[in-house]
This record gives sequence, C-alpha cells and structure tokens, in this order.
Amino acid sequence: MDLLQSLNEKQREAASHDKGPILVIAGAGTGKTRVLTHRIAYLIDTNRAMPWEVLAITFTNKAANEMKERIGQLLDYPIDRMWIGTFHSICVRILRKNIERIGYDSNFVIYDTNDTKIVIKDCIKELNLDTKKYNVNSIKSIISSEKNRRNSADDYIKEHFNEFYKRNVGEVYALYEKKLKIANALDFDDLILKTIILLENEQDVREYYQERFKYILVDEYQDTNLVQYSLVKILGKKPDGENNVFVVGDEDQSIYGWRGADINNILNFEKDFEGAKVVKLEKNYRSTNVILNAANGVIQNNCQRKGKNLYTDFEGGNLIRVLEMDNEKDEAFTVSCLIRKEIRENNASYSDMAVLYRTNAQSRALEEGLIREGIPYRIVGGLKFYERKEIKDIMAYLMLTFNQKDNISFDRIINVPRRKIGQKTIDLITEYADRKGISKFDSCYELDGIGLTNSASKSVSDFISMMEMLMIKKDVMPVSEFISDVFEVTGYKSMLLEDETVEGRSRLENIDEFLSAAKDFEERYEDNGLEDFLSHVSLLADIDKTDETKNNCVTLMTVHSAKGLEYDTVFVTGLEDGIFPIIHQEPDSDDEEEERRLFYVAITRAKRMLFITYANDRMRFGNHETKLKSRFLKEIPAECVEDTNPMAYAAKKIEGLDKNIKKMPSFVKSNFFKGSLDVEKEKPKLKSDKIVAGDKVMHKSWGVGTVVQIKDDGDSKTVVIAFESKGIKNLNLEYAPIEKI
Ligand code: ATP
Ligand code: MG
Repeated sequence: MDLLQSLNEKQREAASHDKGPILVIAGAGTGKTRVLTHRIAYLIDTNRAMPWEVLAITFTNKAANEMKERIGQLLDYPIDRMWIGTFHSICVRILRKNIERIGYDSNFVIYDTNDTKIVIKDCIKELNLDTKKYNVNSIKSIISSEKNRRNSADDYIKEHFNEFYKRNVGEVYALYEKKLKIANALDFDDLILKTIILLENEQDVREYYQERFKYILVDEYQDTNLVQYSLVKILGKKPDGENNVFVVGDEDQSIYGWRGADINNILNFEKDFEGAKVVKLEKNYRSTNVILNAANGVIQNNCQRKGKNLYTDFEGGNLIRVLEMDNEKDEAFTVSCLIRKEIRENNASYSDMAVLYRTNAQSRALEEGLIREGIPYRIVGGLKFYERKEIKDIMAYLMLTFNQKDNISFDRIINVPRRKIGQKTIDLITEYADRKGISKFDSCYELDGIGLTNSASKSVSDFISMMEMLMIKKDVMPVSEFISDVFEVTGYKSMLLEDETVEGRSRLENIDEFLSAAKDFEERYEDNGLEDFLSHVSLLADIDKTDETKNNCVTLMTVHSAKGLEYDTVFVTGLEDGIFPIIHQEPDSDDEEEERRLFYVAITRAKRMLFITYANDRMRFGNHETKLKSRFLKEIPAECVEDTNPMAYAAKKIEGLDKNIKKMPSFVKSNFFKGSLDVEKEKPKLKSDKIVAGDKVMHKSWGVGTVVQIKDDGDSKTVVIAFESKGIKNLNLEYAPIEKI
C-alpha cells in the first residue's frame, strides 16, 4: 500500500482497481499518467502480475522511457523485460516473432514517411499518371487513412469504381502494396494493421498474447484510431473472458483527429468494454490557478466535450503575459531575453523551459534567436536528425545488409559514394528485376542476363562483393563497430573527408553522433543487435525525435509533441489566425474545435509561468504575411492576463535592435528585461572590422552578398550589403551576423 501513498483517494482507487476494464477520464495535469505508472508498480509489487505480464502503451518513445524510469524508481526492480512502448514498437516486437505466419519474412524492413513517398512516386510514374494531378502527399494520406479504416486497395477501387481520379488513386494504392510486399517492407500503418491481421487469423498466436498480457494499460487513449482501438480490444479479451484493460485519457486533449484518431473511442469506452468502471479526477497538481482558469476559459468554447472543470490548491499565480511582436525575429529575440530573465531572476534552469509552436516551420526563426543569444536548446521533432542525407545513406547500407530485397535502400546507395555505376546501369538492373519479379540486389547476380558493359559489370560485382562481406560482418560485430566499419569500407568516410566544406564537416559530425547513438543503444538495451537497432531508429517517429544527449537546455517543439509533458515556464508562440488555428477554419467547425483542444494542451503544459506571443508580420514560405492575432486569445479570461503590456512595448522599442542596440532607451534595458539585454557582452565577436567595400560576406540568413559601403554614424558603423537573393540591406557592422569569405 505504501506505493500508492503519494496518490489522492480517487487516484488510489484507480491505481489499485482489481479486475475488469477501467477508464480514468480526466483533464490535464490531474495525474493520469502518474496513476498509470503507479498502477504498474502496484500490480508487480503485489504479485498480481510479473513484469512481463504487463503491457503498457504510451504515445511517444520518450514517454515510454520516462515511464520505465519511474517504475524502476518505484520498484527497484529490473524493468528491461517489460513491454512498455508505443503502439508501433509493441507491434514490431510481436511481428518480428510471428510475421512469417502471414507471409512475410521476419527480417522485414520498416519504411518511414520518406521511403513511402518514394515508392508512391514510383507507382505514379509506372502507371503513367500525370504527376501534377496525382500528388504524392495527398495519395500518401489517402492510403494511410484507408489502411486505418481497414480498407484494402481493392475495397477502395470498388468503392470508387466510377470516379476516374479516385479509381486511379486506388490503382496506385494497389501497386504500392505490391511493391512493399516484394521488398518485404511494412509502412507505419502496416505495423499495427498486420499485427491485427496476425492476431485475428492465428488463434494460437492470439491466445498466447491474450494470456501473456494479464494487464493492458494505455495512456492518451483519446488519441487512438480505429486500428489501435481494435488492437487493444483483441489483446484485452482473454480466452477466459477476463478483460483487464486500463485506459486513461482526456477528450479535451484529442489532437490527432487529422491522423484518424477517433474521440469516440474514449467517449464510448463504457459501451465497448462491458462492465467498465469509470474514475474521474478533477484536481490538477500541475499548474497555478491562473493558468488553469485560462485553460478552462478556452476549452469551454468547445461543444464536443463531456464538460469538466479543473481546480487546484495552488491559489493565484503569476498572470499570463500575452506579447505582441512586430515579426518573427522580434518574437525570437524577446523569447530569448525572457528565458535569460527567468534564469536570472527566478533561479530557473534552461531545462525548466519550453518554447512551443504550431508548425515545425516556425522553429527556424526561434532557433536563430536562441543561437544568437547563446541559449542552449534542443529540438524535439523538426530537425529530424535521422532524416539527414548522410544518416539515411548509412541506414540504407545497414538495411540492405539486413534485407537484400529492400530496393529503396539499394537505389539510395548503389552509387553513393560514386563507384562508376551510372543511371543507365541502374535502369537496366531495374528493368531486369521488374521483368523477373526479383529484387534489384538479386538481379546483380545475373549480370549476363542484364547485358551490362564489362566495366559496369565489374563495378556492380565489386559492389556486391563488398556487401557480401558486410552481410557476414553484421552477425559478428557489435552494432556500433559494424556501423563504423560500414562507414569505412563503403568509401563513405573518405568521401566526406575529401569534402572540406562546412557541410562536409558537419556531415562527419553527424555520423559521429550516429555512432554515439548506436553505442548508447547498445548500452541501454539488452536486445541490441542490428535488427533491434534498425527497428529502434525506424520508430523514432517524427513526433518525438529528440536529442537526448543534451540535458540542461531549453526544449523547442510543436504543441503536438508536447502532449503529456510539463515545464515550469512555457512560451506558446505564433498565436495568429492562420497559424494557430492553423487555417482559417469556419468558426464552430470540427477542425476549429481540434485546434482549440491543441491550444488547451499548450496552455496546460505550464506549471508556473506562461508567455504567449503573436506577431503582426510573419515570413512564411519566403513571403511576408500580415497577421491578425488568434481568435483564441480573446477566450482567455481577462483577469488571467497581465493588464498592461509592457513587454510588448519594450519589444517594440527594441525592434531596431539589430540596427543599433546601444541606442535603445535605457528604461527598456533596466526595467523590462532587467539585465537580460546584456546580450551586448555575449554577442559573438565577429571580424567585421576587417570588412571593407568590395568584400564578399556570408550572412547567416541571407547568404552571400557584396559589401557596397561602410557608413560611419558616429557611435556605430553601418554596412551596406548587396545580397544575391535579398537585395540591398543596411546592417549594423558590429552586430550583423556576417563573415568575410
Ligand atoms: P496530461 O493530461 O497533461 O497528460 P496527466 O493527467 O497525465 O496530465 P500527470 O503528468 O500524471 O498528469 O501529473 C501532472 C503533475 O502532477 C505531475 O508532476 C505529477 O507528478 C503531479 N501529481 C499528480 N498527482 C499527484 C499527487 N497526488 N500528489 C502530488 N503530485 C501529483
Ligand atoms: Mg499524461
């Protein structure tokens, strides 16, 4: 019972629930995840279940790791063997063991978003469809949502037989499925879908897992889609009729409708799982009263909700600051200054703070602001380490050593680095492979049939011999050593070493980082072979790609990625109509409600201090756009927001900061940012004094330009530069982020 001491009565009731389905439905910060974690510890501690008999499903890999850590602390028990992970990672584990039952090899590869787009593009071409009319992204999302509705390509074609466009999309879908099957590959949606098919078709496999997982727990249940729901349903139903499914969620935080999540899964839980117990929690332990009132004020404008009000013992709290900015650069600068101020005045550390935005594209300006102010940060999602070319190339080598049917990887690296295998040779190999219905790799064993020139044949067979060596080595070397071997013997390393540009160096650094990631993986996991590593990397889904190596730094991420997390201080940026809410939706539409829930998620991440910013002008897709502040702002009760807006005023005063920081009114420095503006001291020292008219310079954002003139304004110097892409600009010589080239 000790274990549950730190829970309140309602929470304890849920955590110690005995048998049968149970739903904890409660608002943000009421301790749902905490209850779920404590329940797992409780089940194990009271011998109701052994660690491997518990299946816990989280929304992100990060959440899974945190949960493991917490359970480890509560129990002082080895947690390696526990099944705690995302839907995808759990399904990969089940499929690796059993997928042969449904006609795949167990060494299947997982195609990520980019891979699937490449395949779709190929299909469109192969079917001779007009690439302008048949857009890869929209077909990708059609295929994905059809899969999530459990509609096959045939179903889709039948359904739309008389609609020319859609029928063709159906044909693309069919060919896409065929290609994946030939490559022994699954996309993300397949991972769950195939698991369900496996469980439905194979009684013994189904019963094995149903019996094995005595207790199933799902966090963020409001964001499950149909196939995820079906999986929970199948696994939860024991052959003896028992059903120990424990789900927690909040209908007000359902923010993945666009990806097929169905809010009805949580709303209908009591109907779907007979005899379900329902526990509601209303006390919030995370945020101040002010922040909660703001959140309540916003969400009550939604109609599709059960309705609940959160309360807290944390009376009062700092008022929310809503700051008006001129543009995204001011926003970035102001956020940076405020971060400094928090550190200086409230003894905060960087890791207590998060900067949230609606779309990934907003991160670049914010990043630049932080970099310039020397504030350490990490990005969750967006930067996409694993999508960088060099990482994808090395990954392709690894995947191909693992599965030679993987044509996408084959194409990617057959001539990278260059090994004299030209496009013509590749086309011939492709044609041959298609004709014979075999993989491209296998075709390379039949060079005579393909009809290559002697020199091309030689290059191809050298490539194959090299790959064969690697295929042997992969079974005997630890992953990190193997990767470093791949890096060398493929010639990739020398290629990067020869490239002396900044880019080349940063690529080398990325490979180093990749090697440390592999080392880290080896140390952290018991199952740490190449196969496990490949699954692990493929599953680092966009929503939670994060650089775990940095600790004390500010976190930047989209609101979607912030789900479930909490920070002392939160900045929600870009509160403009068209950004947040993202498009100009009809008032009162479903989409608007989902955007509002997203705003509710954003607000409720903050524990103590919340800043909200919006800009009047924002650069998007290379154009300036004038913005109106978000319609959601007026839904925050006025008494929660700081009355005057001195910050915004200050921000306005410092708008010309780039041009002349020294001329900024002293009250701005002393009153509003209290020392946080001593960025002057910390600006990187540039070699700008050596710059003279005629020099070529590189500007951080604007690229290469030619210095036209240096003007002396008395206490500062202005440099006039003609940029190749941006035209003439006047910049303060001392502070402009330029370097002579
Ligand atoms: P979200 O909806 O955002 O996922 P949640 O309902 O999962 O939120 P948790 O993250 O579990 O909420 O809890 C929010 C915070 O409140 C955490 O810091 C947690 O440790 C704390 N907390 C929850 N319950 C209690 C409690 N009984 N006593 C003290 N702190 C608590
Ligand atoms: Mg939670």
